[in-house]
Amino acid sequence: MPRLLLFDIDGTLIDSHGAGGAAILDAVEAYFGVPRDSLPPLQLAGSTDPAIAMDVFRLLGRAHSQEEVFAFLDHYLVNLRRRLDAADFSGFTLPGVNALLDALREEKDAHLGLLTGNVRRGAKIKLGRHGIHDRFLDGAFGCDHHDRNQLGPFALSRMQAATGAAYDPADVIVIGDTPKDIRCAAAFGAKCLAVATGQYSAAELQAHSPWRVLDSFADVPATVEVLLRG
Ligand SMILES: [Mg+2]
Repeated sequence: MPRLLLFDIDGTLIDSHGAGGAAILDAVEAYFGVPRDSLPPLQLAGSTDPAIAMDVFRLLGRAHSQEEVFAFLDHYLVNLRRRLDAADFSGFTLPGVNALLDALREEKDAHLGLLTGNVRRGAKIKLGRHGIHDRFLDGAFGCDHHDRNQLGPFALSRMQAATGAAYDPADVIVIGDTPKDIRCAAAFGAKCLAVATGQYSAAELQAHSPWRVLDSFADVPATVEVLLRG
């Protein structure tokens, strides 16, 4: 049976060194015309882009329609691309990620997709910056729903359409770096491999009872073993 591996992006595959959060604040200035420091710190880790945008509207005391949320995110995407293309961009792929993706490409029973709070265009910009966007067939994105816990079924149906496989829930693994990824996996009966390369330690992730926890993907053979035969 093939395994469906659904990867989160930020803190799991890449660290954009704050470019995403900075681009949100660029959008606050461009869209609302207010200084970026008029907002308190935003809760970004594990949140979907629309949920972050909705928080911004709420914190500024502005009502919003779905169209306005996506108009705000258009400003975010323009600034995200600008920041990722900047000469001083210092983002990186997390330890072992490139070697892990190379190793999984050799495994015919590993089907790779995304399950991310990034909107689809943001996911393409971020992963494309590191040359790894084409490793993933399809997936679910923040533009599908602002509540991450609703994204699993989108990922399943798109990946089934892309591969022709029917996945047993026991063979679906969500790979992410926050308690929100763990809850998102549980919401559609998938397993969660939590990885402590984001803002949460292995002990903090373990407290949310994921299927497995790894400190990082630096040990590629061990990670492949967990993902395909764990
Ligand atoms: Mg993440």
